[in-house]
Amino acid sequence: MSATRIGIIGGTGLGNVLLKEGGESVHVETPFGQPSMDPILANWEGVDVAFIARHGAGNIYHPSNVPYRANIWAMKSVGVRAIVASGATGSLQEPIAPGHLVICDQVIDKTFRRASTFFDEGVVAHVELSEPFCPTLRALLSEAGDGVNHDVHNKGTYICMEGPQFSTRAESLMHRQWGGDVIGMTCMPEAKLAREAELCYAMIALPTDYDCWRPHEGSPGSDALLKEIIGNLNRATEHAIALIRRSLPSIAESNRSCGCGEALTLAVWTDEKVLSREHRERYAPLLQRHWNAKKA
Ligand SMILES: [Zn+2]
Repeated sequence: MSATRIGIIGGTGLGNVLLKEGGESVHVETPFGQPSMDPILANWEGVDVAFIARHGAGNIYHPSNVPYRANIWAMKSVGVRAIVASGATGSLQEPIAPGHLVICDQVIDKTFRRASTFFDEGVVAHVELSEPFCPTLRALLSEAGDGVNHDVHNKGTYICMEGPQFSTRAESLMHRQWGGDVIGMTCMPEAKLAREAELCYAMIALPTDYDCWRPHEGSPGSDALLKEIIGNLNRATEHAIALIRRSLPSIAESNRSCGCGEALTLAVWTDEKVLSREHRERYAPLLQRHWNAKKA
């Protein structure tokens, strides 16, 4: 992968912890507005990393309003080649207990009011998404997961819902029938945009509780329930940080044989010659490699 810098996008929980880790923040302008926050550049385990807390400092963006395009663009701008993302989820399966980690391998995208492509004017591009997460990153995270002292599931289907409300019980039961393992609100369009930006991307889901398909044991009050969820999130966050730290050196050293870095090669349908100057400039950070390759 030869990732000179590894991006970490932290969701609820991890994002807040990452903000306290320190580092140097850099201001980045993007054609899609401001990212959730200026990326923080730091060094972990001898590896250069860039952090973005997905919901912004102080959790100001709810899942529908996260500036996903600006975040991925900003990561690419600071030299990131591979992104390890995390996000809080509900579990749809009994064996995936709160506090475990899931290195997802599939997604069902139910979101409907988010900009999900960089190529919304002037250029038509259709990237391949049958494997929405980078197989190399997933394998390296799974390997790192073998050496940590907690439960890591090496695959799982992430159902991405719009939110911000949670599911009804009927929906939750349906998501189980669809084959969902965890449900969250942020993996999409992040994974799609990372593919369009030719970045490797993996998602570590942090189950904080069982989704509402499963009745709660006893009848805890809402305060007790919230406390339990926060406790599970904190535990999963600690586990995710341990897993990410452990995986960084091998991700940084690995060869990028996964194909994510050439995702646009067969995907762009628009003739370069018909692009306006404005669109050419706008898309150059994503498409210059592709244009150069065609000329070679
Ligand atoms: Zn990859």
